Amino acid sequence: MADFRILISGASIAGNAAAYWLRRYGCEVTVVERAPALRPGGQAVDFKGETHRKVLEQMGVLADIERRQTGKTDLNVVDEENRTQAVIPGEFIGGDVEILRGDLADILYQRTSRGCEFLFNDTITALRDTGAEVEVDFEQSSSRSFDLVIGADGLHSRTRRLAFGPEKDFVEHLGYYYAVAGANTGHGAADGRAVGYMYNTPGRLALLGGSKAPDMFVFASPELDLPRRDVAAQQALLRERYSGLGWKVPEMLDRLGIAGDFYFDSISRVRMDRYTNGRVALVGDSAYGNTLGGFGTGLAIVGGYVLAGELARAGWEHAAAFAEYDQVMHRYAGIARKGNAGPFMAPASPMKIKMRNWSFTNPLMFKLMMKMTDSFATKIDLRDYPAPQAE
Ligand SMILES: Cc1cc2nc3c(=O)[nH]c(=O)nc-3n(C[C@H](O)[C@H](O)[C@H](O)COP(=O)(O)OP(=O)(O)OC[C@H]3O[C@@H](n4cnc5c(N)ncnc54)[C@H](O)[C@@H]3O)c2cc1C
Repeated sequence: MADFRILISGASIAGNAAAYWLRRYGCEVTVVERAPALRPGGQAVDFKGETHRKVLEQMGVLADIERRQTGKTDLNVVDEENRTQAVIPGEFIGGDVEILRGDLADILYQRTSRGCEFLFNDTITALRDTGAEVEVDFEQSSSRSFDLVIGADGLHSRTRRLAFGPEKDFVEHLGYYYAVAGANTGHGAADGRAVGYMYNTPGRLALLGGSKAPDMFVFASPELDLPRRDVAAQQALLRERYSGLGWKVPEMLDRLGIAGDFYFDSISRVRMDRYTNGRVALVGDSAYGNTLGGFGTGLAIVGGYVLAGELARAGWEHAAAFAEYDQVMHRYAGIARKGNAGPFMAPASPMKIKMRNWSFTNPLMFKLMMKMTDSFATKIDLRDYPAPQAE
């Protein structure tokens, strides 16, 4: 067992997953999170196949996830008059088990909050890797040293910027933005399957989350110079981009201001050859993100497991462990370096909207698409890592 001091930046899915395993291996884990508390919100995320199941089972969270799952969400694609044009089955977007992102973060946090130190409302401002340790400055807390630093701070990772270089070297804007608005209003398979509604005009999607999930907007746009934490500016932009649209869009826009949770980001893809540099490693979206691609949460969970497992397997020789982690995850995360969910969610023309809808009414085409998503989720031979101590 290790007595490493490890700092993790970001307390969402990847950060909590890595924290869980590292603490169980005996590390002293500190998690710094910029938000004042664990961030709620987000649409449903999902897990699929044996790889995900194995990791979630070993973490002891599968039963909790199943208990709080949405029970799958079928998406009715509707026209302006609310007539159904196609149904995207929950099996396609919801994998084997689907759960609201906020619920998943909460389940993971319940496992880490007792054994790890959490510094909310704070962020790293500088990293100095001396070779023997990493000296870290924070915005609020006093400077401290750690044996390793792990960046789990998402698509716009500050850890990546400080340890690897500017965002533009690694993150490609894929021509779309998305927003998720509204609280998670329920969960539980007992309620049966959920239904959401999708309405498209060229380059725009409005998705009514239904009884359980928040609303979502996806729209085509070149990269904008928009302050990432200016919610008022982001909501004003949404109102402008969706003004004049019919269906239920006006009421969705009306409740933006009172929605509570609001999350806005670009659809972007991260491409890196290596996720580690010296004593710093990246996990989750910071390393292999591809917004709304449908596999980010699975990659984050598997990434945390592999990173901690490789450290344990290498007897805490971090250089050897990081080299293995780079290799294993680069192979597994190949899917994240391809693809763009934007054109699927908000096709650019009426013809492309029709073609997207058609692919869900054609059984052969649908079978093919399902096969593709299956193979992405299971493309890894997970090692069995040394057994950690009991929880
Ligand atoms: C509130 C929220 C809503 C989301 N909604 C959706 C959704 O609807 N659909 C979807 O597909 N994906 C959504 N995501 C992204 C999804 O969670 C990830 O794609 C995936 O689960 C991988 O997670 P991650 O932990 O690597 O990154 P993320 O989930 O993005 O988490 C990164 C964490 O790091 C924190 N952070 C960022 N910068 C700093 C910093 N400088 N210092 C300290 N902490 C920092 C963030 O506050 C966040 O908690 C959402 C993420 C968040 C945070």
